[in-house]
Amino acid sequence: MRQKPVLYIIIPCYNEEAVLPVTAPLFLQKLQEMIQLSLIQEESRILFVNDGSRDRTWEIISELSKKDPHYMGISQSRNRGHQNAVLAGLMEVKDICDITISIDCDGQDDLNAMNEMVQKYLEGNEIVYGVRSSRATDTFFKRFTAQSFYKILNWMGVEVVYNHADYRLISGRVLKEFQNFKEVNLYLRGMIPLVGFQSTTVSYERHERLAGESHYPLSKMFALAFDGITSLSIKPIRMIAGLGMTVSFISFLFIVWILIQYFSGHTVQGWASISAIVCLMGGIQLICAGVIGEYIGKIYLETKARPRYIISERTEPADVTESETEDRK
Ligand code: UDP
Ligand code: MG
Repeated sequence: MRQKPVLYIIIPCYNEEAVLPVTAPLFLQKLQEMIQLSLIQEESRILFVNDGSRDRTWEIISELSKKDPHYMGISQSRNRGHQNAVLAGLMEVKDICDITISIDCDGQDDLNAMNEMVQKYLEGNEIVYGVRSSRATDTFFKRFTAQSFYKILNWMGVEVVYNHADYRLISGRVLKEFQNFKEVNLYLRGMIPLVGFQSTTVSYERHERLAGESHYPLSKMFALAFDGITSLSIKPIRMIAGLGMTVSFISFLFIVWILIQYFSGHTVQGWASISAIVCLMGGIQLICAGVIGEYIGKIYLETKARPRYIISERTEPADVTESETEDRK
């Protein structure tokens, strides 16, 4: 059995002033319960990552960090999206933690699964994926799109854990290896399995948001799905090649047919079908060029090797300010 670990709970927050005051005490309660159960060390912390919020989120995080030393916060200099915010949090603590658990701040993911996650770590796992036991609270549309997406990803050869979002335990050891994954296009749930090490899953119920609104409208969902595929799989390129060959073969048959028509003196009648082919070919070529362009765009971004996040602020630990005020007395 392993030693009790130091746990950092990583929570990305973007415009969450409505939900943060509700869920922050729940996270603290959970942390303290786990400390009392001797699952984790007293030095464990809750790290909020403010993802360039435009509302009072950062003020709330700063206030929390003054109230209890278990709360900490970092703030990104601008909104970079959920995946980058989680990465910023993970990289912030990689050298000081034994384990991290990333979770959304809206209370949708059942906090009670954390005990089991830590237990699985103590049993020797380096990564523990939270897997939703059912999708009953989702709309039919979200359920359908999400499940088809997992199927497509798997078919594309991207290894993803079915029904796992970004609620997971990652050990410091894995994070130290993960920092060498330098890509800019992030799709964490597809990248973490690439690091390897012993892993397992824990199932949990996903509830409705406790307050506030989702920041994942349809457009962002599609963007993440598209990123997931093009960042991790080159199968679309192979499919283009396959499509190209099929189309060429069909075109060859058409040419034979056109020649037959020509020699039998029916060329004028063939005009409609030829124009149709021209249009079809134009369309296919455009699609192909678009997909190839997507990859070239990604290569372009990767060669720049830009920093993936920039931290602009950090909260002070609460115990220091307290002792300072006592000194003054
Ligand atoms: N989030 C973020 N940056 C963004 C969008 C969302 O850090 O640009 C955070 C958000 O605060 C929440 C988590 O990512 O903690 C998941 O977002 P949300 O609950 O809106 O998505 P949903 O659960 O509806 O998919
Ligand atoms: Mg949510």
